[in-house]
Amino acid sequence: MGADKYRRFLATGEWLFREGDPGDTAFVIENGLLEICREQGGERERIAQLGPGDLLGEMSLIDRLPRSASAFARLPTRLRVLTPQHLNEKLADADPLLRLLLKMILQRYRVATDTGGKPSPEEQKQDREAVIKRIELEHELEQALEREEFVLYFQPIVNLGSFSTAGFEALVRWVSPARGFVPPGEFIPVIEESHLIHSVGKWILREGCMALRRLASVDTAHGDAIFVNVNLSGKQLATPDIFGEIKSAIDDSGINPSQLKLEITESLLMNNLDSATELLDRCRELGVQVALDDFGTGYSSLGYLRRLPINTIKVDRSFVAPVTEDAGSGKILRAISALGHSLGMNLVAEGIETHEQALALGELGFEYGQGYLFSKAVPEDKARELLALDWPWSFERRRTDKSA
Ligand code: C2E
Ligand code: CA
Ligand code: CA
Repeated sequence: MGADKYRRFLATGEWLFREGDPGDTAFVIENGLLEICREQGGERERIAQLGPGDLLGEMSLIDRLPRSASAFARLPTRLRVLTPQHLNEKLADADPLLRLLLKMILQRYRVATDTGGKPSPEEQKQDREAVIKRIELEHELEQALEREEFVLYFQPIVNLGSFSTAGFEALVRWVSPARGFVPPGEFIPVIEESHLIHSVGKWILREGCMALRRLASVDTAHGDAIFVNVNLSGKQLATPDIFGEIKSAIDDSGINPSQLKLEITESLLMNNLDSATELLDRCRELGVQVALDDFGTGYSSLGYLRRLPINTIKVDRSFVAPVTEDAGSGKILRAISALGHSLGMNLVAEGIETHEQALALGELGFEYGQGYLFSKAVPEDKARELLALDWPWSFERRRTDKSA
């Protein structure tokens, strides 16, 4: 999809739309000048002139009625095109309260202008209930932090050569007295959409570092230094002093920064390339490592990786799962692994569930694997036990036997 789908260029005198044209797009003027007018009996009556930053045609996004006036360019003009899909996507991303508010304003407008689409009382009730549930959940999450109901669990990241525990990914859990054990998929998105991500994200960073400090003191069976991966969310990246928070979490816990690895998703990185690159560069100066999470689900473009201070690529489960059944995915994984290595990175395969997958990925050159085959995320004391064991996994040691 070309970027120009969302751009229009008009030469001087060119019409953008005429009165009566069907239309369901709005426009923001990036530069240039437009005249809005009505045409009657060959006469043109100017209604307005619009310049950079002005919005026009927005009503058609809502009611999709024919254009009520005409618009043409007074100067060469560049426009950004806003489609109904745009609006819906933006609304879907918006804070639920804002979404409800906008929906209600639009509904009132529709009633007032009789353009139909009035929701049924049942729909209105459902909307309201959804918002109330959401507000309650946000409130409970706010209290959860104060009441120390969040805990970090640790999923082992396993060396696919020796099948020993090389490190862990810290994954947050909410142990709620009212709701029980709540998986992160149900509350992380809520936290991310609210202001809570700043305080919860800070807690996760600090707690992750403290746990690393404790786990790093275990005498591991393999004797090597371990690492702990901590996830960074999009809103956290946008926290004004995120670097300061990372630095003080490291200083206050007294960890060796090189044992901390920050996970940031591919799509998040691509959507905030400049700010994220700056942050990651500063982290590298501190000695902190960086892992690119959920690789393959976003832009899948390895070209830009070259410029970024990334130590580890975590290839998403959706690429890993078919590896033993489909030769094509093996080829893709081999290419990713070769390219990653040529850039000096190491690779983790996420979501390994079978012994065959673990062996196949080891053979494709992946250094590490993570998945239910080895272990789900476990509490910290269990993580310590895993580190102290030479061979914690229930399956036999086929690969090492073979390579021995
Ligand atoms: P993620 O960062 O991609 O984390 C990996 C998720 O995959 C974890 O789910 C993990 O339990 C799950 N998983 C691991 N191995 C397997 C496997 O073999 N098969 C399958 N089907 N799943 C596997 P979890 O813990 O439910 O976390 C879900 C997501 O929630 C995470 O995805 C991450 O996006 C978010 N999350 C969790 N903890 C944190 C956190 O501390 N901070 C932030 N920002 N996000 C977090
Ligand atoms: Ca992750
Ligand atoms: Ca992941």
